[in-house]
Amino acid sequence: MSEYSIGVDLGGTNLRAAAIDGQGKMLDKIQGSTDLKAGRDVVIDDMVQSIEALRARLGEHNLRGVGIGLPGFILIDKGIIVGSNNMPEFENYPVRDEIEKRLGARVILENDANAAALGEKWIGAGREVDDLVLLTLGTGIGGGIIVNGRVLHGNLGMAGELGHLTVVPNGNPCGCGNRGCVEKHASATAIAAMARLIGLGHDLTSEDVYNLAVQGNDRAKTIFRSMGQALGVALANLINIFNFPLFLFSGGPLPAWDFFAPSMMEEVTSRSFTYRHAPTRIEKATLGNEAGLFGAAYLPFIHP
Ligand SMILES: [Zn+2]
Repeated sequence: MSEYSIGVDLGGTNLRAAAIDGQGKMLDKIQGSTDLKAGRDVVIDDMVQSIEALRARLGEHNLRGVGIGLPGFILIDKGIIVGSNNMPEFENYPVRDEIEKRLGARVILENDANAAALGEKWIGAGREVDDLVLLTLGTGIGGGIIVNGRVLHGNLGMAGELGHLTVVPNGNPCGCGNRGCVEKHASATAIAAMARLIGLGHDLTSEDVYNLAVQGNDRAKTIFRSMGQALGVALANLINIFNFPLFLFSGGPLPAWDFFAPSMMEEVTSRSFTYRHAPTRIEKATLGNEAGLFGAAYLPFIHP
């Protein structure tokens, strides 16, 4: 039996773990629920139990290591999380060392959006390139930057917080302290907020707004045009900075691509000299919500 690693994706409501081999083939998978409110120790117990269950099935001997994707800023060298709104109890707690100790196996932490970008590079839409950016559209907007096939971490591991790129100088206030962050103008949450603001409906989800757009509702379509403009400003900046061959999008609002992509591409074309002169693919990611799981599992293979 060949070597494998275990990838874990800890989201707001579910915990997934998968055993994946060095070629990116999923060998086994566990899907559980997580109650972050149950507290840190319960969540860590759940993670450890899932990993141990997979390891028991596939054998301890061939386990290369464990990669875990988590929301929040990860101080990579220290293996701790700082600034995670969803998981305050994890702040400055030695998550990596604690799990390593319990498992007796090597553990690598990574930010969940970075892990998703890495997964797309390994076996998804980015497998043919070494450099890419992934933007994940959800409650907020996450981002991951892959350079030479590796996650760009920056100084402490905080690089790639692309949801907080400013796209409207005096725009909506953001929890990060800035105003006009792209996630305040183009995330699923922002779509629902715009629907409230223009009187389309008070309790609409971004999916409801999408369905209205499909039915031909002009105000719903306007919301997606506005979302596309905000994304386009951010994307033009990213293309100007990186001149990468590939920029990817994933997340819940992706089905609305045909409604937001035209205005996004207009912004990109008019704002980016680089885009107009360098071949640049702007596409949907292909691994869906499993990208983070694959990316997390890839970590032990590329960090010997
Ligand atoms: Zn922000």
